[in-house]
Formats: sequence, structure tokens, C-alpha cells
Amino acid sequence: MLKLRNVQSYYGNIQALKDISLDVREGEIITLIGANGAGKSTTLMTLCGVVPARQGQVIFEGQDITAMAPEKIVALGISQVPEGRRIFPYLTVTENLDMGTFLRKDPKGIKQDMDHIFELFPILAERRNQPGGTLSGGEQQMLAISRALMSKPKLLLLDEPSLGLAPIIIARIFDIIKRINKESNTTILLVEQNANLALKVADRGYVMETGSITMTDTGQNLLANEDVKKAYLGI
Ligand code: ATP
Repeated sequence: MLKLRNVQSYYGNIQALKDISLDVREGEIITLIGANGAGKSTTLMTLCGVVPARQGQVIFEGQDITAMAPEKIVALGISQVPEGRRIFPYLTVTENLDMGTFLRKDPKGIKQDMDHIFELFPILAERRNQPGGTLSGGEQQMLAISRALMSKPKLLLLDEPSLGLAPIIIARIFDIIKRINKESNTTILLVEQNANLALKVADRGYVMETGSITMTDTGQNLLANEDVKKAYLGI
């Protein structure tokens, strides 16, 4: 579904991605793990066109999207849930969800999908008329994921969904991530500092260090890997 080949990205003169190659197959949950500043978020930003690659190629479903504008990439079926959630605090829950549908022109489908979201996250249904900014951190994360789902993505990019949340809420968010993957066949690329949880849900993982990928394997094998255990799992 998605291929990155020798991708290099920069912020001004600072090189954030050195030579990133990775693959995501349809139906998979793939995770990128690594320390602060390793380049995980930049990888997501690059593949959805926000930080354009200076070298290399990004291919989505056979199409070269390396130099494509972000809104065109969204229209192809890639949607990102950014780090820190970034919902619209003064818009209601329903209005936030509507923002995810700006490229769609099927009111019936939109209504069905919103009902489905409210089934998946009953708390959002209860709070549908409340401003997003009044929700708890976990509820805002659910809203940010739901807003991205409203664009009906084929590939969902999740940047640190566990950030700043209590363990019980994180467990619920990760259950939902698995359900979204299985029930609506949404492929997921998940960036996480919580390597333990991320590797448990992922089919495969990539380890990033200072702008490069240093290891890749199944989630299970990476969880059992001694170097990964020492560096990222605190074991
Ligand atoms: P984190 O978990 O802290 O978000 P990360 O692995 O996602 O880490 P990135 O945010 O992709 O890492 O950062 C990669 C490198 O790019 C770091 O050296 C970071 O300081 C730098 N960087 C990130 N954003 C910017 C920016 N807007 N301007 C300049 N440098 C940046």
C-alpha cells in the first residue's frame, strides 16, 4: 500500500530523515518506535506532504505522491491524527467531526459514519454538543481519531496516541485502534514512544534512531529482542 524509498527530509539545513525506506501492506498495523527526536513524526509529516521529501520517493497504491500537496494526499485516502491531538477547542464534538468530512460529498454516508463513530465512542455521543476544548485528554484523543476516520481513510497515521494519558485510557485507545483495523479494514501506521504497547498491537515494527531506521521485524520479535528491551522497554 505504501512504500518509502530512501527518503530524506530537512527542516531548513537540519536533516531530520537520512535515508528512510519502509513498507506498509494493506490491512497491517505498523509501528515506528524510537527515542525523542528520532524522526518518527517527521516520517509521518513527510509521507502526508506537510514536510516534503528532498530526496527519495513516497509511493501510495502505486502512485508517486512525493511532491503532492497534503490535501490531495488526504483525498487519496491518507489521514493523520497529529501529536497533541489538535482538535478545534471552540467547535462542538459534532462540528469537529464535520471538519473531517470536508472532501466528502455523500451526506448519507457521512451520517452513517458519524453514527458508527458514536457507537465506537459512546462518550462522544453524550458530549456531541459540547465544545471540544471541554473534553478530557482521553476524550480529545478519541475525537481526534474520530475526526480522521470521518474522511474514510485507507491508511490512518497516528502520532503518539498515548501521550499524556492515564494507563487505563491508553488501554482503551489501543483496543479501539485494533478494532478500527479489524472491523473497517483500515491500515494503520502508528508512531509511539510507548514501545511496549505499540509492539504488542503491531504486525511489524521499525526502530528509528537519529533519522535512520536501524531495525525492523515483527512486533513479537522486536518485543523479544535484547537491544530493543534494553533501549526502549526498560527491561
Ligand atoms: P518526538 O517523539 O519527540 O516527537 P520524533 O521521533 O517524532 O520525536 P521528530 O519530531 O520527527 O522526532 O524530530 C526529528 C528531528 O527534527 C529532531 O532533531 C527535531 O529536533 C527536528 N525537528 C522537528 N521539528 C522541527 C521543526 N519544526 N524545525 C526544526 N527542527 C525540527
